Amino acid sequence: MATWLLLSRLGRNFGRPRCPTLLKVQPQISKFSTAEIALDNGTTVGIRHAPLQTYTEEELIMKETVAKFAQEQIAPLVRKMDEESHMDESVLVGLFEQGLMGIEIEEQYGGPESSFFSSILVIEELAKVDPSVAVVCDIQNTLINTLLRKCGTENQKRMYLPRLATDMFYFTLRRIGGYRGITCFIVDKDTEGLQVGKKEDKLGIRASSTCAVNFDNVKVPESNILGQQGQGYKYAIGMLNEGRIGIAAQMLGLAQGCFDSTIPYLKQRVQFGKRIYDFQGMQHQISQIATQLEAARLLTYNAARLKEAGKPFIKEASMAKYYTSEVAALTTSKCIEWMGGVGFTKDYPIEKYYRDCKIGSIYEGTSNIQLNTIAKLIDKEF
Ligand SMILES: Cc1cc2nc3c(=O)[nH]c(=O)nc-3n(C[C@H](O)[C@H](O)[C@H](O)COP(=O)(O)OP(=O)(O)OC[C@H]3O[C@@H](n4cnc5c(N)ncnc54)[C@H](O)[C@@H]3O)c2cc1C
Repeated sequence: MATWLLLSRLGRNFGRPRCPTLLKVQPQISKFSTAEIALDNGTTVGIRHAPLQTYTEEELIMKETVAKFAQEQIAPLVRKMDEESHMDESVLVGLFEQGLMGIEIEEQYGGPESSFFSSILVIEELAKVDPSVAVVCDIQNTLINTLLRKCGTENQKRMYLPRLATDMFYFTLRRIGGYRGITCFIVDKDTEGLQVGKKEDKLGIRASSTCAVNFDNVKVPESNILGQQGQGYKYAIGMLNEGRIGIAAQMLGLAQGCFDSTIPYLKQRVQFGKRIYDFQGMQHQISQIATQLEAARLLTYNAARLKEAGKPFIKEASMAKYYTSEVAALTTSKCIEWMGGVGFTKDYPIEKYYRDCKIGSIYEGTSNIQLNTIAKLIDKEF
């Protein structure tokens, strides 16, 4: 059952109407927009600008639904999937059934037509429990679906978007003469000559498969060309800019999940007559990490909101990806140290977060490439 159907059964229409109750922007035109924020006690306050961590009702429901799904259906399988380097079929089925693989796909193509920001919250919540599952969801939503929604013809959208909400796809780029000759096209997975290569044996995110995709004299009809011929490079780079916010959300969720799994242990373990948490030397380190996590969240959410508002976001997306990767590496390393010897064992999930985080500074543009992008854009500003 898809998420939006599930929520409809609960008496709420998840996909529509778009009428957030937590954040109501007043309709009058003024120099500053006024937002009305609902407080926990039922009253509301009017403020000029909503805090960055203000969610619409739809976003909040999505976040809570996914957190519950991750705890109930993914958490029990995390260790087994990591050991076996294999994602359990039930997890993939669950992602599709919950409508999490086509979050922004329009209702007319069978999707819940939710927002980009909702995708970011979903990726973050999944990564808190298993970053491997989060990346599968991230790539389908922020790269593949986005490309087809932006560049697809009406026929391609009608043919593929309903299927993308229910199945996984390959998209590729083929160079047909020079840098400018890259063209984007769609290849169905059972096309003759298409072969999925060897599965890589990896340090982290082991439950997600990383394989080469080989094309041996593959022929596709002209109708499968995505967007304009020769524009593939431009599409790929544009898509990666958005994708980087997704990876930032993955790293943010990973770091938060690791932190959340560590703190209760520190409050329970006693050494030298005190809880580990009560040593001031520990408290200062914990506070520093918590502050960096908050900064990472604000960078990520701001980049996502900028993208959604149609404003420039490339520099902010690179900053978010770069910084969350750094914070995830530091958080997971510190959490192992704070747990002492047991943090290094597989009895706790901390060592897995430590392994999983390394990919954040590599894929969808290494940290050096993010820094190059940021510097290039700063150069243009002065
Ligand atoms: C688990 C996993 C999943 C992946 N999934 C995908 C996928 O789905 N699709 C896909 O297309 N790719 C995928 N990749 C590939 C990934 O995007 C690349 O590995 C990554 O972009 C780095 O490229 P590279 O490995 O060629 O490193 P290199 O380019 O060889 O870089 C090596 C080092 O040199 C530095 N460097 C390189 N160029 C510069 C420069 N101009 N300035 C400063 N430093 C530089 C890099 O920062 C890095 O530190 C995946 C990789 C992994 C490990």
